[in-house]
Amino acid sequence: MSKVKQLEPILPGATIGVLGSGQLGRMFALAARELGYRIIVYSPDNDTPAGQIGDKEYVAAYEDLDQIRHFARQVQVVTFEFENVPSASTTAAAEFAPVRPDGQVLHITQNRLREKNFLRDNGFPVTPFRRINTRAELEEAVQQLGLPGVLKTAAFGYDGKGQTKLTSAEQVETAWQGLAGAEGIYEAWVSFRQEISVVAARTLAGEFAAYPVFSNSHANHILDITFAPANLPPPLGQQAVELAAGILNQLDVVGLLTVEMFVTTDDRLLVNELAPRTHNSGHLTIDACVTSQFEQQVRAVCQLPLGSTALRQPAAAMANLLGHLWAKGEPNWKAALQDPQVKLHLYGKAQARVGRKMGHLTTTGLTPEDCVERVRNARERLM
Ligand code: AMP
Repeated sequence: MSKVKQLEPILPGATIGVLGSGQLGRMFALAARELGYRIIVYSPDNDTPAGQIGDKEYVAAYEDLDQIRHFARQVQVVTFEFENVPSASTTAAAEFAPVRPDGQVLHITQNRLREKNFLRDNGFPVTPFRRINTRAELEEAVQQLGLPGVLKTAAFGYDGKGQTKLTSAEQVETAWQGLAGAEGIYEAWVSFRQEISVVAARTLAGEFAAYPVFSNSHANHILDITFAPANLPPPLGQQAVELAAGILNQLDVVGLLTVEMFVTTDDRLLVNELAPRTHNSGHLTIDACVTSQFEQQVRAVCQLPLGSTALRQPAAAMANLLGHLWAKGEPNWKAALQDPQVKLHLYGKAQARVGRKMGHLTTTGLTPEDCVERVRNARERLM
């Protein structure tokens, strides 16, 4: 496909294909439908959060290249919400429709080692790390980078899965066993005072737009609360956005990419992770920003002008709703929504499991502190 052809906008009425069918795909499909697009969702599952919204739910394995080709023939552009799609599949899809962001971005970001090597080699700040393929390499890494540190699987890790924190040399053996033969990465522990994310979009022509910096706190390794704007000193806030712009440019991203960063106790920024897509921390943009992250993804992958990322009110906060809230039956939605500023989003998942992301609450207001308190209180009223 020629670059000139690719530069032409994909206009409303066209069909967008989405690889992956979770909540990110659902909120993307909702935004795309509002703009008048049709949606085909592709994943191995049935009656999925995104499939419930799309025009068509395509149920097939990501590895099934014939099915991927069949799917890609029916759409004008392919994007994704799930990054562990094999490279061969995005390559097969690209025979028929542009894949945005392209398979190379996916390839780098779906493996922590490739991702950290890319970042380090291009001068983006990351914590020191080593590749781990043998027990001896882990021992050497612990000696060189010190303790504490964290051993992660290089592939298929998210929400803290496949991670072990090491605080003493005696833990090397257990941590090594935990890898179970998978390739690993050992990272020096970062002493941080805050975790932040920058969700940013870039078009084929290089137009760039970032949301205000989000501040994130986790519980059991899963995102718990996000608020915006992050209370960073202005130079750090600007630096975070500049880092994101540099990364999207270097990767030649067409679409959205999220950069998760640490703000260290000595006020440096270190990049922790990249996600070539919308992000849980960006969910508040639906209610809080002129353009939601999902609409922005539609605009970026369809070659429309990017929308304003500005907050409509000075501050916003989001609280995740995880499966444990269903432990005693259906949560008390009425009680949560007693605060008229609180907005509820549910993802249409039939089964609530502990740790499963079922929905979120958002509120907007005058200060981040007030917004955080209101979403926390609303969430507490659920049980
Ligand atoms: P990740 O899956 O890499 O995003 O890690 C999940 C969470 O573990 C992060 O959001 C941090 O809270 C924590 N974490 C990961 N890597 C490190 C590190 N090198 N130092 C300190 N905390 C970390």
